[in-house]
Amino acid sequence: MTTTKETVLEIDLKALKHNFEFLKSKINPNTKFLAVVKAFAYGSDAAIVANYLQELDVDYFAVAYTSEGVTLRNAGVTKPILVLHPQPVNFDTIIERCLEPSMYSNRVLDLFIACAEKHKQTNYPVHIKFNTGLNRIGFTKEDIDPILQKLDTTNSVKVSSLFSHLAASEDLNEKEFTINQINTFKNIAKQFNSKLNYTAFLHMCNTSGILNYPEAHFDMVRSGIGIYGFGNSKTLNKHFKPIATLKSTISQIHQLKTGDSLGYNRGFIATQNTKTATIPIGHADGIKRQYGKGNGFVIINNQKANIIGNVCMDMIMVDVTNIICKEGDEVIIFDQNNNAENLAETVQSISYELITAISQRIKRTVCR
Ligand SMILES: *Cc1c(COP(=O)(O)O)cnc(C)c1O
Repeated sequence: MTTTKETVLEIDLKALKHNFEFLKSKINPNTKFLAVVKAFAYGSDAAIVANYLQELDVDYFAVAYTSEGVTLRNAGVTKPILVLHPQPVNFDTIIERCLEPSMYSNRVLDLFIACAEKHKQTNYPVHIKFNTGLNRIGFTKEDIDPILQKLDTTNSVKVSSLFSHLAASEDLNEKEFTINQINTFKNIAKQFNSKLNYTAFLHMCNTSGILNYPEAHFDMVRSGIGIYGFGNSKTLNKHFKPIATLKSTISQIHQLKTGDSLGYNRGFIATQNTKTATIPIGHADGIKRQYGKGNGFVIINNQKANIIGNVCMDMIMVDVTNIICKEGDEVIIFDQNNNAENLAETVQSISYELITAISQRIKRTVCR
């Protein structure tokens, strides 16, 4: 008997705890643990995940944008929250909600100092981001002295930490590049800290960095995908439990005869008698069109059912010709056994993209 009556994303807090404890077992007890809960905690539910991790005594949180930090504060999160990619238009909000911004350019640093002075702050915590090869955001080595000169002119901000981000920590073919990034960061941090009259703490590793580069854990690690249950490799995945199960139900079953077509633009034409099941989830929910035309699949009564025809906004249709099933039966889109990475791979995507795309209109439920 199934209890799934509509499309739901179930969040398993036991799995979350398992992943957190596994990652903690990989770091030194003094190393701080930052949980990355950006993008609705990787498509799950940021308030639920962050509040639970707060109970488990995580040290820090990170989000990408200011609005995500505000959501966490409104949900009762009291631990420090690093905003990785803030925009100056939101600096007042950052200060009002006690969020800690990443400073990634001279423009951003100047504007934040001005804002902190306007708000009469002293020693407001900021985190200096260095670009060591990802070439996305961050200061370079040449910026060290100009940053320090700016900091000398004000007591409105204080550098809590220096950090950088690895470009290919999951790809061991890029080990040389990664080790070069680590050494670049070490040199920058050493120079920077030697010129401060206090010590900023250091962090660099994301999930794959934690697993593959223990020498780069420094004072804190930042994990996102790992706490949600993925290790970015088939062998490492075994140590993790995906926290999110996306499941739905069969709305209706259709019998197509040879020559009948299915869905928009007649994306599938039956070449034999075909039984199809219609499921209430579509591209507006994150199951993008690429999963159609036989690429992606769901699980019904423990069997794979291919997604056929074009993915609609609110529905997909799957081939259940050889599956014993009926309307109202449960459909698994991904769970711990048939995980999101396996489904994402069918369209040359990655777990990150699939799980963060699950729309907010899908109900979240929690199992403890
Ligand atoms: C998203 C992000 C992370 C988390 O990366 P995972 O691979 O999900 O562990 C860490 N650091 C920064 C700067 C990020 O943007």
